[in-house]
Amino acid sequence: MQNAINLAYLAASVLFILGLIKLSHPRTAVFGNQLGAIGMLIAILATLLDRQIIQSGISGYVTIFAGLLVGGAIGATFALKVKMTSMPEMVALLNGFGGGASVLIAGAALHDATDPTLQLTVATVASAIIGSVTFWGSLVAIVKLQDLVSDKFSRFPGRQPLSAVVGLVCIALGLWVVNSPDSFAMYWILVVVSSILGLLLIMPIGGADMPVAVALLNSYSGLAAAAAGFVLSNNSLIITGSLVGASGIILSQIMCKAMNRSLANVLSGTVGGESAVGPSADSVYAGKVKSTSAEEVAMLFESARRVVIVPGYGLAVSQAQHAVRDLARLLEERGIEVEFAIHPVAGRMPGHMNVLLAEADVAYDKLKEMDEINPSFERTDVALVIGANDVVNPVARTDPKSPIAGMPILDVDKARTVVVIKRSLSPGFAGIPNPLFAADNSLMYFADGRKAITDLVTAVKEL
Ligand code: NDP
Repeated sequence: MQNAINLAYLAASVLFILGLIKLSHPRTAVFGNQLGAIGMLIAILATLLDRQIIQSGISGYVTIFAGLLVGGAIGATFALKVKMTSMPEMVALLNGFGGGASVLIAGAALHDATDPTLQLTVATVASAIIGSVTFWGSLVAIVKLQDLVSDKFSRFPGRQPLSAVVGLVCIALGLWVVNSPDSFAMYWILVVVSSILGLLLIMPIGGADMPVAVALLNSYSGLAAAAAGFVLSNNSLIITGSLVGASGIILSQIMCKAMNRSLANVLSGTVGGESAVGPSADSVYAGKVKSTSAEEVAMLFESARRVVIVPGYGLAVSQAQHAVRDLARLLEERGIEVEFAIHPVAGRMPGHMNVLLAEADVAYDKLKEMDEINPSFERTDVALVIGANDVVNPVARTDPKSPIAGMPILDVDKARTVVVIKRSLSPGFAGIPNPLFAADNSLMYFADGRKAITDLVTAVKEL
């Protein structure tokens, strides 16, 4: 029987790995998700059998199934209701719960252990520290993503030395627990101090940088789960936790690279919103911005052979993806070549635009990555930018002092005509003006994203 259970754990781990591979492409992502879910089901059943038949037996089946039902219902409700723009909050919540669960599991195992081994105590301490940091850090991330706490308020002087001191106290308490595992109260003191560390570490990160922090916390939740796997000597949990730990850190690195920032720079909260510097909006825009209308843009399309649509955060906010799909189809029916230019950090999470456009059934082969589409802007008649700002800001190429200097951008300014749809001249996440809006070949179409596209569809049909 033990062999069958080990085989089931192995099968679950293989399904998780296959699921991750499939998740790396939009076309296979849903299947990847299903593979992961089947793997999780197998892992849960194997764990129940393992405890029931091989180990001491389970006395609380009712509690376990009630937990599965209640937790499953809450999870399903949240997953169905959450808006795409709130996905980072949802992921943060899941990470936080993962970290919190590891703390409770490790605490229970330490409490029940009659003669704790070194592996158990070290893994318990690791679960307590990483799990608590993840839980409280994730709650802070949610609060900041919701803009409930100002970045200025959370960047108080002396926070870095304070974090270092609290970190050292955590290590000292951890060593104490390893040496004297009987002093169970010390475990909970370690949890409290690690929770303070979690608050201190995530507080200074700018609200708009939070998705990077969420990816990092995702990695921490994996490490906490892996540590809990060592506590329980559960190979499947160790493998799964390590996979989450590795993928979270890879994702944070990808996001940092796409913003040309280091992880240290993100974690210290030095860019974004209130800390942005650079030329004033007046000096960039005064007297140079030309506004346009749906009818004028429709006329531009009439003589265009190639149009590139550039979606950004505003497309997600205004939920314009279905309207954009309709516009693209309409233009194609009129013989115009239409492609979508996808910047890796457009929106507020990696893959945000891919998910939105896939939801609206835009064909995957129309979505072009930045490196692939950039050389084609010079032969593009109209670049239609919808609610994107920083990812098309040419100062990233031209001003080495800009907060986004060196960030790879979509070269829309090289298109023959650029039409930018947004509601005003207000800045994007980086908090800086965008000279693209005042460029000779740019036209500003001031409106809500969805309304603008819907009006544009009507105008094109009326031509
Ligand atoms: P930006 O945040 O630069 O700009 C979005 C623009 O959308 C705003 O200027 C806003 O202008 C406009 N907008 C908002 N609501 C609407 C609406 N209803 N209709 C039309 N327009 C609207 O977005 P980008 O996608 O260009 O760039 C993403 C930024 O987020 C980058 O700086 C990136 O570094 C950062 N970031 C991204 C992460 C990711 O993983 N994707 C993670 C962390 C940070 P207005 O108010 O005038 O309408």
